[in-house]
Amino acid sequence: MSEPDPADWIEKWGNTLALAGCHVCDAIYLIPYDKAPLTCPLCAQGELLLLDEEADRPVYTQPPELAVPFSVPQDKKTRILKQFLSSIWIKPDDLKLDRLNDRAQSVYLPMWLVDADVQAQWWAETGYNYEVISHREQYQRDQWRTQRVRETKIRWEPRAGRLQRHYDNKTAPALEEHDAFARQLGWYRLEEAEPYRPEIAQTALVRLPNRPPDDAWPEAQTALRQAAQEECRQAAAADHIREFRWTAEFANPNWTQLLLPLYTTWYQDDDGRPQMVYLHGQTGKLYGRRRASLKKARRYALVMLALAALAGAFALFFFLLGLFIAPGILALATLGFLAALFFGILAIVPVGLAWYTNRTEKFNELHRLARDTAVLHDQKAAPQ
Ligand SMILES: [Zn+2]
Repeated sequence: MSEPDPADWIEKWGNTLALAGCHVCDAIYLIPYDKAPLTCPLCAQGELLLLDEEADRPVYTQPPELAVPFSVPQDKKTRILKQFLSSIWIKPDDLKLDRLNDRAQSVYLPMWLVDADVQAQWWAETGYNYEVISHREQYQRDQWRTQRVRETKIRWEPRAGRLQRHYDNKTAPALEEHDAFARQLGWYRLEEAEPYRPEIAQTALVRLPNRPPDDAWPEAQTALRQAAQEECRQAAAADHIREFRWTAEFANPNWTQLLLPLYTTWYQDDDGRPQMVYLHGQTGKLYGRRRASLKKARRYALVMLALAALAGAFALFFFLLGLFIAPGILALATLGFLAALFFGILAIVPVGLAWYTNRTEKFNELHRLARDTAVLHDQKAAPQ
C-alpha cells in the first residue's frame, strides 16, 4: 500500500504523520503512518486505527509551535518502574518490568498557546519596599543593651493606566483531563520548550486536543491578565502589585499548540483489565494504580492450608500413636499441631495483604474522585 498524500493541515505537523483514533476512549492522535495499528497509549483498551484526514478531520487542528522535550534517561525510568513494582506485594502475573518496558510509549499531550493584542484600562495598588531602622532595648547580662533592628516595610500607592500590548504564547489546557494529569504528575517546566520540528513526532504519538479554544479562553484570559499585571508592576517600578483590576479588549487571537511529554505503559490486573501507569516526561514522577492479585493470594493461601491440613493429620497420627502405643512420641504430636497452626496463620496473610492493597487503592481513588468533583464544583461556583 502506498503512502497517501497527507491533508494540508497535517503537513504543518510533518508529512509522514497520519490521523488515528481510539474507538474506546475517543482519543485522536497523529502517529507515524507506518506504525498503525497500535494499542491506545492512554487507555490500553482500544487500537489506534487510521482515520480519513479530511472526512474525519478533527475540529481543532491548530498547528504545533513548541514542544517540551522528553528528558528522563532510560535507567532512571527503569529505576522508577522497579520501585513501583516493589511497592505491590502480591503482583498480578502480568505485572513485570520487561512487559512494562515493552509496552512503554512516548506521548505528547497538547496545551493551547494563545497570542493576542490587548487594549485595557487598569487600576491597582503598587507596593514599594522601604527600610525602617529602629532600636530595641534588651536586658542582657545585668545591663540594658540597645540593638539596631532593620525592617522592610511596604508603602502602597494607588495607580491606574492604559495598556496596549501584544502578548505571545500564553497557555491554557487543551484536554478535558489536563487538570487530573497535572494533579497526579505535577506541572511542566515550560521554559524548556523548544520550537516544534516534524522529527519529534517520529518518536512519539501526538494526542490532539479535545477541548475547544472557546472553553479554554477564560484560562487564556487569566494568563494574559497575569502577564499584564506583571508588566504594570514593572512599568511602575514597584516591588509588589495587588488589587489589580482591568477592563480589557482582545483582538487578533491566534491559537497554536504546545506539546507536553508523557510516558505511558500498562499491565493487566486479575480480571484482565488494563491498569495504566504514567510517567512525567521531564521529572519521571509516576502515577499508576496499584492492584495486587487476589487470585495469586488465594493460591498461596490454598497451599498454606494444604500444608496446615497435612501437619494436622501428622499431629493426629502421632497423638493417637503416643496415646496407645508409644507415649514418648507425644512431643512430635505437639510439634505437628504447632506446624498446623503456623501454616494456618500464614494462609491468611497473603489474602489479607492483597485485599488491603486493593482496598487502600480503591479508597484513594474515591478520595481523588471526591476531590476532583469538589474542584469542578468550585470552578462552577467561582464568578466569571
Ligand atoms: Zn483509548
